[in-house]
Amino acid sequence: MPSTHSIAAEPMAKPSAKVTQDRVAKLKFWGVRGSTPTVDRATWRYGGNTACVELTTPAGVRVILDCGTGLRMLGRHLEVSPDSEKIEPHIFVTHYHWDHIQGIPFFAPLYAEQNRLHFYSFRSEYLGADSLKRVFEAQMAYPYFPVDLSAMSAHREFTEVNGGDHLQVPGARVTARWLNHPQGCLGFRFETSAGTVVYATDNEPGNPKLDQSLMELAAGADIFINDAQFTPEQLATTRKGWGHSSWAQGVKIAEEAGVKNLVLFHHDPDSTDKAVDVILRDARGKFANVWAAAEGMVMTMGQENLDVVIPTVREGLRRDAHFRAKVTGLTDSGRAFEEETVISDLTLHGALIYLGHSPKLQSELQVQLENPGIGGASNSPLRLRGYVVRIEQEADKDRTAVGIVFTE
Ligand SMILES: [Zn+2]
Ligand SMILES: [Zn+2]
Repeated sequence: MPSTHSIAAEPMAKPSAKVTQDRVAKLKFWGVRGSTPTVDRATWRYGGNTACVELTTPAGVRVILDCGTGLRMLGRHLEVSPDSEKIEPHIFVTHYHWDHIQGIPFFAPLYAEQNRLHFYSFRSEYLGADSLKRVFEAQMAYPYFPVDLSAMSAHREFTEVNGGDHLQVPGARVTARWLNHPQGCLGFRFETSAGTVVYATDNEPGNPKLDQSLMELAAGADIFINDAQFTPEQLATTRKGWGHSSWAQGVKIAEEAGVKNLVLFHHDPDSTDKAVDVILRDARGKFANVWAAAEGMVMTMGQENLDVVIPTVREGLRRDAHFRAKVTGLTDSGRAFEEETVISDLTLHGALIYLGHSPKLQSELQVQLENPGIGGASNSPLRLRGYVVRIEQEADKDRTAVGIVFTE
């Protein structure tokens, strides 16, 4: 998660029942942005690092999907994790565009000789045999990088993967298929005992053969991570032929292929958080179980329900307050609700509120503060638009703790 702007992260206990670790598969998003990293403030909520997703299989083995700039943060995390003595991930690189490889030279585990890294990628017609090895050499060649390749002392293995291949990593059966993207790109399907994840980023629909192939790759997936860089309007006009997709195409595949959860991924660098909110809202209007990938988001499969957690980053000074507020929104099951509550923990960016209803994660709430007393003796209510970033069921009470970010 973006540490540069997190003043106070809120550690909240997880509500889900204890499950044995070997039954679950866990997905964590370290980079969700497409094309190039973004650092402008308007993109912080979803995050600015480029593609990198971590999948922990029920066998406890770590699979890394793509090596965008999010890989740097994952490397730092691995260095301090309990199993850091020997880091042995299986790393799948979908293709060689910058946003999928740029994190490699900054992945700290590559510089420690006890680590073993297993890379999988395709043979590019532009790079020839050992394509990914050549990418390593090129990235670290003078004068592009200050450190010599010989400093990368970790043991590295490279496996060439082709569209249509099946392979096995501990805890997951893997299938690769070609996607429709300039200079080629692979989509991957991971079948585990806890559920199936399909990672299909960087794809433009419109090639009947490849569209059908993607449909087969996504069939019945519990989680389908799909390129949603452009709006349907952009995809039909100015961005046609750029190699990317829209939420509407993702929804179409999700419906036809019987996908349970769709994750919109590879957000455009020019999409602000508010623009992604709109994309998500539009998508949810057509398909209920859609999520917008956010940096730090964790999805756990293999329990009764899919568990989704988004890290809360609270910015700004926190103030104790006592505002009566009327909150309206949609519950997890899509029902509209309205209720009164008291806000006692408030910043200029967000609040923690307690509700009897359980709103849907990543949905919008209207919050009307009664008697805000802002600007003197004003008695007119203050209307705010909030966005649900955190849900926690209070185990012994009849209420839900809801973390919201104010967007207007
Ligand atoms: Zn990309
Ligand atoms: Zn690409």
